[in-house]
Amino acid sequence: MNNLISSLLPESIKNLIPYQSARRIGATGHLYLNANELEQPLPCSNPQQPLNRYPDFKPQQLAEAYLDFCQVEADCLAVRGADEGIELLVRTFCAPAVDNILICTPTYGMYEICATASGVGVHRVPLTADFELDIPSIETLLPTTKLIFICAPNNPTGNLLDSSSIRHLLEKTKESHVVAVDEAYIEYSEQDSVLPLLAEFPNLVIIRTLSKAFGLAALRVGFVVGSPVMINALRKLIAPYPIPDPCADIAIDALQPSNVEQMRAAVKKQNKIKQQFCDQLSESEWVERIYPSATNFVLVRFKPSLNPFDLLIAEGIVTRNQSHEPALQDCVRITIGSEQSMAEIISALNNKKREI
Ligand code: PMP
Repeated sequence: MNNLISSLLPESIKNLIPYQSARRIGATGHLYLNANELEQPLPCSNPQQPLNRYPDFKPQQLAEAYLDFCQVEADCLAVRGADEGIELLVRTFCAPAVDNILICTPTYGMYEICATASGVGVHRVPLTADFELDIPSIETLLPTTKLIFICAPNNPTGNLLDSSSIRHLLEKTKESHVVAVDEAYIEYSEQDSVLPLLAEFPNLVIIRTLSKAFGLAALRVGFVVGSPVMINALRKLIAPYPIPDPCADIAIDALQPSNVEQMRAAVKKQNKIKQQFCDQLSESEWVERIYPSATNFVLVRFKPSLNPFDLLIAEGIVTRNQSHEPALQDCVRITIGSEQSMAEIISALNNKKREI
């Protein structure tokens, strides 16, 4: 194992021999009586896709399909949604009551939840006023940090992060920390992916998902992309049979070139609707600020007197209130839906104007 990754693993993980599931051990024969499965599917099961056997422990075809999509020399692990990727990273690299992760707030909530649930500490470094990385403050906390989560584009702020700051951080941590870049929304801004940096930085690992631009949130399929050494480390802790066969099949199909084209066309359309929505929103007197978005949502700051979340919910429109975040008072995060859905928001705001 590469020295860096090996040196970052807690002793208990370094010495851990992964559970030897029947699929992991392999072995070929003509009778498979090694996994306590039902040898013949029941008559009521779907003959097109019998489900009596456990799935592959590392669905290779799925990983290859994703790497083809990424067009990168790397390895990749299919996981049950990006959320499982986040959890695996915390459990693989951080020892409870010893290690800390570092996050840049406001950001996606699961980094902190996974760490806390595992007894791992959390360093929170607020983003700057324009939601960029505060590199000097991050650097101060590096000596007591093991794993850094960077969400780019960031949820809930929606912005990309300055690429030179990310590169700087990778340089600084190249021999000492794992940097996980969560690119759950990257398809909305593909050219800004950090994938090309994988060749340069063995400490970089990238989290991806089919839940957003691919429109497959119910499938629960995501990916962790990194060096073979990094991915092998994560494989130590992944559940014995992570991806159900029907999910792997659907995901492989979604990654075929013609379907990727469809995804890209849908992204283009959604980005156009986002632009129109932001243009209309900017004319509303209730809107204080619309933050730049490289995602399928926009963060909007409204006038303090409006109470936008309640106003919209009274119209049956459910958005995500961000007021619990100290930096995001009076902000809501609005997912970009159809033109019609966005028009409903605009008219709810305009109607409010007429009331006064
Ligand atoms: N990362 C970010 C930044 C997200 O916003 C989300 C979902 N909201 C996830 C990860 C989790 O995605 P998945 O559905 O693949 O678990």
